[in-house]
Order: sequence, then structure tokens, then C-alpha cells
Amino acid sequence: MNRNVIDAHIHLDMYEDYERVQILDELEATSVESLIAVSNNLASSLRQLEFARMDSRVKPAIGYHPEQSLPSERELEGIMQLINANHDCLIAIGEVGLPYYLRQEEPEIDVAPYVNLLERFMHKAVDCDLPIVLHAIYEDAELVCDMLESYHITQAHFHWFKGDDAVLDRVLRNGYVLSVTPDVTYEQEIQHIVKQTPLSQLMVETDGPWPFKGRFAEKMTHPSMMHHSIETIADIKGIRVEEVYRQIYGTTRKFYRI
Ligand SMILES: [Zn+2]
Repeated sequence: MNRNVIDAHIHLDMYEDYERVQILDELEATSVESLIAVSNNLASSLRQLEFARMDSRVKPAIGYHPEQSLPSERELEGIMQLINANHDCLIAIGEVGLPYYLRQEEPEIDVAPYVNLLERFMHKAVDCDLPIVLHAIYEDAELVCDMLESYHITQAHFHWFKGDDAVLDRVLRNGYVLSVTPDVTYEQEIQHIVKQTPLSQLMVETDGPWPFKGRFAEKMTHPSMMHHSIETIADIKGIRVEEVYRQIYGTTRKFYRI
């Protein structure tokens, strides 16, 4: 059986060096074909590009993670220039989006500058004809759908999607894709999302090194965990596991043009 998977979203630069070496060494043995390596800021973008130069299985995306304070204009310029200089070897723009968790902690935070920042990245994605990797959950997903529609962007990936059925329905109707992490094996909320989402719009990811619970508690987040996600997805959908592997792999390759 072909068990190939692609990690649709991982923060490779956030692992310790020895952990990253271990993960890359074990990719082939664990049937993980490639990694979509997203960036948090300028320094992180530079590192993903460096990893990609050393190992062609690492597919780099450049962006600025929304769950942190805003970048200086100088840092943002640096990121935009890096995208211009490398757009032919980039797989996407990301991780970008809106600061949901930051606003839970600091409700007084002004979201308008984050929306402006996201608009600049959307504009860049259109200019460079690259897919966009979004951190946009719950109510934010609605606003991000408005923005994507106004920019006529169709190549949008909602990573670790969370939201109600209405917004999920809108994401799916617009032809966007979403991905689930290993928490699909134990979180009902995520299992419900999988139930509604066709395999032609579903991918798997780890968001590593983010840690997981259940059978993954106390373990380093490893792309091989996605095999458990695939088994759970097959159970939820009542589809043969081989077929789930085949379709999710196909969806990911098609979306990221790998
Ligand atoms: Zn992420």
C-alpha cells in the first residue's frame, strides 16, 4: 500500500537542531514525502530557505505569523524583498492571518493593523501567483473569507481550521482547502469538521513542534503522527484507508503544485 503523506504545515525552524536532523533522517522510513515549512518572521523565513537549499523535500513558505506583535516596517520590507527574490522557489506565502489567541489574552488589541498586514500579504500572493497559508479561526475565518473574495484569491489553505458549520460551508463552497493536525484523533470538534469536508479539500499537517495529547502526549511532534490522523479520517468517513491516503496526497500535491 502506498502510504505517502505530505506534512501540509510545519514550523521546521522551531525544532532543536538535533530534532530537525532526526525528523529529516526519518522522513523516508516514515513515508513522509515532503514538508511545507512555514515561517513566523524574517529570521524564520531565512532559515526555511536555507533548509530548502540543503534538502529539496523541504518546501518553504515565507510570511509573518499573526499571533505576535506587529513587525517593524523594516522587517516587513525585508520579508517582502525575500519573497520577490525567491518567489520561484517558494511553495506559498505563509503563515499569515489574524491574531485570534492574542486577542483572547489582550482584548484591547487593535485588529485593524493586522488586517492591513494580511492585505499586503494577499496582494503579494496574487502578484507572485502563490497559494496563501492562513491562520484564521472561528470569527476570523469569516473576515478572511471576505478579504479573499475581494482579492479573488482561490488558492487559500486554512491550516488547523476551527469554526462553525456556516463558515466551514463558506470555505468549502469557495474551493479553499483546510488541514487537520494529529488532534483529529481525540478532538470531537475537529472530527466534526472532517465529517463535513470532502477529501478533495482536506490535507494533514502537524503544525510541529506544537505538542499533542492523547497517544502523542509527551512525544516530540513528528510528521509520522499524520498516519494516525489518516486512520482516524478513514474511520470517520467510512472509507478505506488506502483511498484516504491516495486522495489526501493528491489534494496536497495539487494545491501546492508539487
Ligand atoms: Zn503554524
